[in-house]
Parts: sequence; structure tokens; C-alpha cells
Amino acid sequence: MIALTLAEVAQAIGGSMHDIPHPQVRVSGPVVIDSREARPGGLFAALPGERVDGHDFAQRAVDAGAVGVLAARPVGVPAIVVDDVQTALGALANHVIERLGTSVVALTGSSGKTSTKDLMAQLLEKLAPTVWTPGSFNNELGLPLTALRADETTRHLVLEMGARGIGHISYLTRLTPPRIGVVLNVGVAHIGEFGGREQIARAKGELVEALPDAESGGVAVLNADDPLVRAMASRTRARTVFFGESDEADVRAESIRLDDRGRPEFTLRTPSGCAQVTLRLYGEHHVSNALAAAAVAGELGMPVPEIAAALSQAGTLSRWRMEVTERPDGVTVVNDAYNANPDSMRAALRALAAMSGASRRQGGRTWAVLGEMAELGEESFAEHDAVGRLAVRLNVSKLVAVGGQAAAWLDMGAKNEGSWGEESVHVSDAEAAIDLLRNELRPGDVVLVKASRSVGLERVANALVETT
Ligand code: ATP
Ligand code: MG
Repeated sequence: MIALTLAEVAQAIGGSMHDIPHPQVRVSGPVVIDSREARPGGLFAALPGERVDGHDFAQRAVDAGAVGVLAARPVGVPAIVVDDVQTALGALANHVIERLGTSVVALTGSSGKTSTKDLMAQLLEKLAPTVWTPGSFNNELGLPLTALRADETTRHLVLEMGARGIGHISYLTRLTPPRIGVVLNVGVAHIGEFGGREQIARAKGELVEALPDAESGGVAVLNADDPLVRAMASRTRARTVFFGESDEADVRAESIRLDDRGRPEFTLRTPSGCAQVTLRLYGEHHVSNALAAAAVAGELGMPVPEIAAALSQAGTLSRWRMEVTERPDGVTVVNDAYNANPDSMRAALRALAAMSGASRRQGGRTWAVLGEMAELGEESFAEHDAVGRLAVRLNVSKLVAVGGQAAAWLDMGAKNEGSWGEESVHVSDAEAAIDLLRNELRPGDVVLVKASRSVGLERVANALVETT
């Protein structure tokens, strides 16, 4: 965090100081919510948890060197007391952002937020010190805690924002106000919760509504290939920059192809020049993510050749997203078990299909080990059926559908699309899938593992990687 005194912190969040002998002491360490992570000079925010109450750990945090505690009541150690500690963290983050004058980039979308955020962070880091959300820590707690990691040297702050419903992104933008807002796509993730794509678009568009106007430096970075995102241009006072494959896009990918390992190559075309990019990430969907990252880097002053070079070097920072492991015995495991929705399922299957060229030459086959896509409400049957059918149309060699009813629909879809018999099987759980694959896999095979988070299919991917 930037160096603020306890008195300044108290003032910024409207709190009262208790048991603080030296209000002019500076906070020089991190702001944490777990007392075990408390460090000398830092602050400990005491939150009520489901099983434990942070207030019970205030003393421990101070023993570890924290100079004070943010708390909802006096706790017998130096504390700044507020009504609601989580809201206070938001207010403090807001204060820090204002003081720093850092460029805050926020991004949202149905799929690809974490992948894009990781790419963008790797680009911006090359320009100037950058702080970004770890993993998917994208809510009212994660955003302030991320912003509070910024210090006087930080030039860019990259924040992932997840939308849980109408009004949520709007709330998040008040905690950590962005200057640049990126909307990746409006898919069908969480459609059951929202009740329709238009509603999802309404919720995600709150990001561009919150941006400053063009004169004050506001920039909305929008996906030109997604009609619901393109339409958000009318909801913002910020300058708009479009990215995508379409001709209207300012930051464009041309001549896209997947190499035989499923890695996209393309020509990056921007108003200030062109350059060739080969991503180290698998699957064509990452082209769109890379363009979004390139558009933001361009806005922040990075020259096109450097953007292209940095994109070509960038790897994954977050786990279980198209994580590729080549086993010594020649089996390739693609672990995309972090999450799934219909869009990301299709993208991953296409990547698997692209990887089949190399594997077939070695006599190998492509396997899609898939589980449920959760939270689809009424669309659930149709979406699972369609994914099962797509696996057949893309010429995937084998489908292993893992789990309950939704998996049965995947299997049925595949069997109804082709004249598939044993090419598609339905197994009840991860253990059954592991047993089956252990017996069946042979050198040259490529196995994609993917399902919604709740299915926990990384167990399958991990077991396959460990078996060599
Ligand atoms: P979450 O809402 O869970 O935080 P996210 O938006 O951060 O998700 P990622 O974690 O980057 O998304 O990716 C989730 C899944 O979507 C992965 O399986 C990934 O391969 C896929 N994916 C990534 N980018 C895209 C994209 N642009 N279009 C479709 N699918 C994508
Ligand atoms: Mg995420």
C-alpha cells in the first residue's frame, strides 16, 4: 500500500481510532484479511467469516507486526473502528487509487476475463510496474485488496470484475473506478441466474457507463465481433476502441490460423502498425483475448512491435486453463477443468480438433472428457446436446461424458449426431473416467478435460498427468 498514517486511514474511511497511541505511525506493510499473512507495518482487516470471526485474531495480527486493525468494534489492540469493515476496505482502495493517479483498467465478460487479465498484465509489466488481480479474485473483497497492493511506484492496475447481477458491476466500479473499461463478450455464462442474454449485457455494460468521458481520458475497449458488446458504445461517454476480426475493428487480427498444436498465429493490425503474433496459449478464443490486451497496451503507450513480441511470449498465469502437459509416453493432457460454459466448451473443442493433425500423424486420437456446464437453467438440455453433437462434427475421436444428467445429454447428443457407438461413453464420476482412460490411452493421444468448476474434473486431469 502507499504510505498513509493510521490517522489518514481513519479519515479516509470515516472510522474512529481506538487504543492507538501513535496516530502518526505509517502503514508500510500489506493489508490482509488472514492474520497468518499479517506482516510488520501492515494492516489487518477483521472480517466476520462463516466459521470464524476475524476479530478473534486481532491480537495475533498485531503480534505478527501489524500496526493496526480495521474492525467493527474495539478489540483491545490499535484499531480503526467502522460500521462495516468490507465497505471500509472499498473506501480505502478508492482513496489510494485517487491519491496514486494510476491507470485503472477493469475488464469484464462472460468468458476469458482471467486469461485476458493475465495476458494484459504481462504486457503492461513490460511498460511500467503493474498490479493485477490474482486468479479470479474479482468481487467486492478481491478488488479493494488488489488495489491496496498498489504502491507509489505502481503505474497500472488491472482488475477483473465479475457480474453477479444487475447493479453489481456498477457497485464494483465505485469501489475501484476504472479509466479504461474492457468488455470481452456476452455469452450464456450464468444465464440461469440472470434470465437472458440481454440482461447479461445490461449488467456487463454497467462497466462502460461508469467510465469518465473522453475528455477526461475514459476509454471503452469493446469487442466488435459480439453484437451485444458492440452496442455498448451507445452507453458510454468514453472514447471507444473496437477489437476483433471484423473490418470495423481498430485493433484487428488478420489471417488467423491454428498451428498443429492448436496455437493461434495471426497478423495484429492497429492504426499505428502491423506485426506478426504467435500465441503460446491454446485455442482460437485466445485471439480475441489477445486483441483486447493489445488494445489496452496500445492505449497505454506500448508500440505495436513490442505488443506483438510480448503477446508471443506470454504464458498462462492462472491454473487449469488450457494447461497443456506432454507426458513422456507421448500422451498430451489439456487441462481446462477450471470452468466451462457453452462458449468456452466450443472454443476448447475447436482447439482440441486443431491439435488432432499432429496426433493423428502419430497414430493418436483426440479425447474430449467433458462434464456438466452448470447454471444454464432451461437452456441446459439444448446446450449439452449441442456440445455432444459438435464433438462429432469436429471429428473428435472419443467423448467421455462424466457425471449425472447433463453428462447423459452430452453422450446422447453425440450418439444422435453420428452413428457413434463406443466413441461416446457416459461414466458416473471422475474415478470411473480415470479408470477408463488409464486403460485406453496410448501414445499420440490428446485428452481435453473440461467441465464447470463444481464438477471438479481437475481430479481427472491431475490423475492423468501423474500417471506416466
Ligand atoms: P470466471 O467467471 O470463472 O472468473 P473468466 O471469465 O475469468 O471466468 P477464464 O478463467 O479466463 O474466464 O476462462 C474460463 C474458460 O473460458 C476457460 O475454459 C477458457 O479456455 C475459456 N475462454 C477464455 N477466453 C475465452 C473467450 N474469449 N471465449 C470463449 N471462451 C473463452
Ligand atoms: Mg476469472
